[in-house]
Amino acid sequence: MKVRVLGCSGGIGGRDQRTTALLVDQDVLIDAGTGVGDLEFDELLRIDHIFVTHAHLDHIAMIPLLVDTVGDARAMPLVVHGTPETLRILRSHIFNWLIWPDFSSIPDRQNPFLRFQEMRVGESARLSDGRTIRALPALHTVPAVAYQVSCAGGSLVFSGDTTYSEPLIAAINAIPDLRHLIVETAFPDALQDLALSSRHLCPSLLALFLDRIVSNPEVWITHLKPSRAAATLEEITSYGGRLSPRAIHNGLEFVL
Ligand SMILES: [Zn+2]
Ligand SMILES: [Zn+2]
Repeated sequence: MKVRVLGCSGGIGGRDQRTTALLVDQDVLIDAGTGVGDLEFDELLRIDHIFVTHAHLDHIAMIPLLVDTVGDARAMPLVVHGTPETLRILRSHIFNWLIWPDFSSIPDRQNPFLRFQEMRVGESARLSDGRTIRALPALHTVPAVAYQVSCAGGSLVFSGDTTYSEPLIAAINAIPDLRHLIVETAFPDALQDLALSSRHLCPSLLALFLDRIVSNPEVWITHLKPSRAAATLEEITSYGGRLSPRAIHNGLEFVL
């Protein structure tokens, strides 16, 4: 199984700054931020599933355009997985015929271009080739999950957007084959109040979070704000710690 970073920035601006999206093999997206827009039409056509961590725009921006682009060229609906709360937000505020058409009833409800699939925290989706994706509890300003992506080669956890969360730490610590942990750090410590009120992490909170992780995954930092990325990474490095987090970048590929 391969997991490729299509977008991992907290903002936009040039080819290096794309918002959150991970491509699992050729057919699964985890979040669908602006990085999805870099895929060619043939690559977009192969995407069968999108697992959404939460409904914020930087994580879902390309879903409406993707389904509109590939819908009539596909034999099966594109399936958007998320918690009932997240899917309700997408239906009410995006696919509401005002911002965008309701593609779950286009061309008709029996054979739609888009299908919503509810997935509660703790539940797993079984995909082809022995791959599974499980929703883990995250803590953000809107209902949010992290995802554990697993195959015979091990597990990768992607935090989505979250602040410090004991249930998430417990869920991560219960994974015996964790190889990669991708975790957000949106703000530098100077903006800790903002990190707390917007329920993100900053380096000091990240250090507390990582101190509680009992296994030895490779740790990767995502969702840095472009204007503060260098300063935030310096702070993360200065905290030291056992796990030596590194920043991820577009095009990075994890092989499990
Ligand atoms: Zn968010
Ligand atoms: Zn975000």
